[in-house]
Amino acid sequence: HIDVLIVGAGSAGSVLANRLSADSSRRVTVVEAGERVTDPEMRRPELWPRIHGRSYDWSYRTTPQPGLAGRSLDWARGRGPGGSSLVHAMAHMRGCRADFDRWVAATGDERWSWDSLLPFFIRSETFSGGADAVHGDAGPLPVMLPGDDVSSPLVQDYLAAWQALGVPGISDHNGGEMLGATRNSLTIRGGERVTVSDVYLDPVLGRPNLTLLTGATVHRLLIVDGQVIGAQIERDGAEETLLADEVILAAGSIGDPLLLMRSGVGDPEVLRAAGVDVVLESRGVGRNLHDHLLGAGNLYRARRPVPATKLQLSESMTYLSLAGLGETRGAADIVVGCVVGLSASESFVGSAADQLDVGEGYTLLFGVTNPSSRGSLRISGPHVSDEPVIDPNYLDTEHDREMFRAALEHARLVGSSDGLSMWRDEEILPNSSVTTDEDLADFIARAAITHHHPVGTLSMGAAEDAPVTPELRFRGLRGLHVVDASVIPSITAGPVHAAVLAIAESFADSFTR
Ligand code: FAD
Repeated sequence: HIDVLIVGAGSAGSVLANRLSADSSRRVTVVEAGERVTDPEMRRPELWPRIHGRSYDWSYRTTPQPGLAGRSLDWARGRGPGGSSLVHAMAHMRGCRADFDRWVAATGDERWSWDSLLPFFIRSETFSGGADAVHGDAGPLPVMLPGDDVSSPLVQDYLAAWQALGVPGISDHNGGEMLGATRNSLTIRGGERVTVSDVYLDPVLGRPNLTLLTGATVHRLLIVDGQVIGAQIERDGAEETLLADEVILAAGSIGDPLLLMRSGVGDPEVLRAAGVDVVLESRGVGRNLHDHLLGAGNLYRARRPVPATKLQLSESMTYLSLAGLGETRGAADIVVGCVVGLSASESFVGSAADQLDVGEGYTLLFGVTNPSSRGSLRISGPHVSDEPVIDPNYLDTEHDREMFRAALEHARLVGSSDGLSMWRDEEILPNSSVTTDEDLADFIARAAITHHHPVGTLSMGAAEDAPVTPELRFRGLRGLHVVDASVIPSITAGPVHAAVLAIAESFADSFTR
């Protein structure tokens, strides 16, 4: 007998497995499609962009994007215990108060405010700077704010260059405000990637009431008279039925809505087109898909060798409000980050940017923190093996296109500033032929790549058309919760991983009370 069946041992699933099985009377089973990952390169922070496409990546691809000059983007998603924390870039940015104000506005529920989530951010971490009012020193996840000893000299000069332009340097971007120039907090320990499974799931696998099934793919949920009673899974080529009192979806922003659709829950037209019988009409399933993009990139040839990163290439972020470079409080509009290396989208293969060797250049990445474009995803057939149709509808709104242009302008502002003159030889991208507004828009459409933060496909909300309630119950079905990045109604300004962990911690706390 299973009390709680968790679908997916990714970032959120690992947290849930730990916290929900802490009560030895609750029998918890976690089903994870992937196998345990043993690739030593997965551990090496600087290799993170290179490990995509391996056996532990779902390797999704978007539909051709009209807003991106018709390009399709590769979407990595981790597969195996640890989920996307197996392949992510390890930046740990909680987001700012203004981000969570929007969650409260969507849900009408104060549990999603910054103040209410703060104890869960604290509970999840052991911070290199020690415990204080906003940090913890006893949580599972090591969070390191790099010091001068490991931080790239290029990045240190980049941050100083912003300060010379009037942007405040902030010593801790995880305290509720994040406007300013900062080094990134990273989930690296002893020079190695730490996955969420390493610290939440693996240490408690000895609990007799916790079972982890790997290589076990959930095909569909079993639903009887509006009650979810378990799941149909496939393991070692054989189908199995698991019955459970409660099912929690933690298969991520892509996995969850696809699983619901295969189970007959979603937009009836989508389901019928894919050959699936309708069990429950729920039109919000797979909608509200949104993501951060980064322009890759504003690239420079260096006048002296750029030392290799001792961290994970993307060591810093500067969040800015267009209200003024000196703003220190409130929502961010745009972000500019400094990459210790060459980062250009596939559009620039064969261009001058491609001629540079490692150590000969550096890149400023730029993006929009709160995009308003919304897309959707759907199944194309009834089986797990049927390719999903993923359409994030990038840069659909004038707001996003305008903000992106502002982000590029700000990258070039700092990139051309005196503060970086000791590194800069010449700007390579955008090249000198890009001059008009139209040229710049075209450059952005060809440069933008995913920042890997898709969220919102099963948004929580107070409105009846939100698929998930503020308490993270799935609307219209009993015995089903959703707890992962898919419930995020509007994206946080920065990378979303810390927020996903806080969602899982908060949910586990209320579930076990
Ligand atoms: P996941 O961690 O993706 O977990 C879902 C799990 O469910 C997976 O293990 C999957 O295999 C499993 N699953 C799916 N379908 C099924 C099924 N049918 N049956 C069984 N199991 C299933 N965020 C940051 O904050 N900082 C970063 O630097 C950063 N960089 C990123 C870089 C990359 C390349 C990627 C991919 C993501 C990055 N992110 C980053 C985002 C962050 O990692 C994710 O938002 C977060 O891990 C999502 O957690 P989740 O629990 O929602 O889903």
